[in-house]
Amino acid sequence: MDASMINKIQKASEYASQPERATFNSLTVQFHGANSSHTVELGSEGWSCTCRGFQTYAICPHIMTLETLLKPMLKRKPLPYAPGQNIVSDVRKAKRYSQELDRIRIVSFECSFEGYNKNHHITYDEGRWTSTASFFAQRGVCSHTMALEKILKGLVEPARVQPVA
Ligand SMILES: [Zn+2]
Repeated sequence: MDASMINKIQKASEYASQPERATFNSLTVQFHGANSSHTVELGSEGWSCTCRGFQTYAICPHIMTLETLLKPMLKRKPLPYAPGQNIVSDVRKAKRYSQELDRIRIVSFECSFEGYNKNHHITYDEGRWTSTASFFAQRGVCSHTMALEKILKGLVEPARVQPVA
């Protein structure tokens, strides 16, 4: 492996231990349950989910799961519990979902990443990554995308490394 790639991999593992450097501006996530699937979205308007709980209470176990899993990268207060919501049951569900990561798939996101030298913009869409880092333009990965792959363990598909031209 070339020295520049080794250097980026090293940097990526440093970044992976500092997830607060990343901030999700938007996010689409699918939850695959035993009986039904739901889609959670985060955008400038905040959270939404296709499940019935969210339609009633404006909070649900799916969003609560993501608030836990992605906490340092959201930079927003958790949604408040709602009157009438079954909090005990929803907390229990959210805890179970966060341990069943194979049911959760990140479809797309847009994120800013505070690098050591510069801020970068990273996007992900159905396995396709983009990054504003110059190394990414040459090699299809950069320390930021590799750090996010580590942080999001298994919820995203890894970016494909391009060989040295
Ligand atoms: Zn939901």
